[in-house]
Amino acid sequence: MLGDETLDAVQDFQRDHGLIREDADLLGGIAPQTLAAILNPETPCACDPPTISMEDRIVLLVGPDEEGRRSKGKRPWHEIRGITLHQTACLFAEDPNRYRGIRAHWGITRAGKAVLIHNPNTRVMHGNSFNNHDVGLEMNGFYEGVQGDPKTLWRPKADPKRQGLRLEAAQVEGALAAIEWTINEVARQGGKVESIHAHRQSSKMRTSDPGSEIWQKVGLAAKACWGLKDGGPLFAVGGYPIPREWDPSYTRTYKDRS
Ligand SMILES: [Zn+2]
Repeated sequence: MLGDETLDAVQDFQRDHGLIREDADLLGGIAPQTLAAILNPETPCACDPPTISMEDRIVLLVGPDEEGRRSKGKRPWHEIRGITLHQTACLFAEDPNRYRGIRAHWGITRAGKAVLIHNPNTRVMHGNSFNNHDVGLEMNGFYEGVQGDPKTLWRPKADPKRQGLRLEAAQVEGALAAIEWTINEVARQGGKVESIHAHRQSSKMRTSDPGSEIWQKVGLAAKACWGLKDGGPLFAVGGYPIPREWDPSYTRTYKDRS
């Protein structure tokens, strides 16, 4: 279920985009029209949005009391405050079982499955300064730090000619399903998810993590849809701020190292 504040944010978004419709079903998730508008901002009303069942996308590899293979132990639910977005910078197979060894709470497959690898109330070393309070979400695949600039793609030595992938809508929907699941589960356990972060903000080695396309389609959507905060235009804890190539309303550039 969506909380009151979230509902307000969704309804503001809908009002701004002319999406208030009598058949909008806000109960149990984001209205398909709203999600479609977030995914496809140029054509908010012209599209015939797919019916998305968030629950169908979720794959739970761990039960409620299981920690998962890379857990460093449990943490209290009330210490969870945010979600950090990552890209794997490599390509995993579609099989959810292949994600068990990843140091993150979620892995989002290219086809849009949201795979819960570790429960939110476990400590996982995914994001430097964000480890203690954030849930780590890994988008499977390798993506340019700034979409359209091949120099911002991390490449392994074994694959120096690698070209960046583009996000499919299904993978974006899988990520949003994971975020919604996390917000709801943490709330059910008495906590509150308030932030959405990029690994770039906590690591100077991860300037392209998760990259502009993931930030715009997942990070900014999470801000618009659930009112999550990224700390603002200058916020970083050991890394670099969100650059204006990722969020046009911000001032720092991708290459700014100050
Ligand atoms: Zn990362």
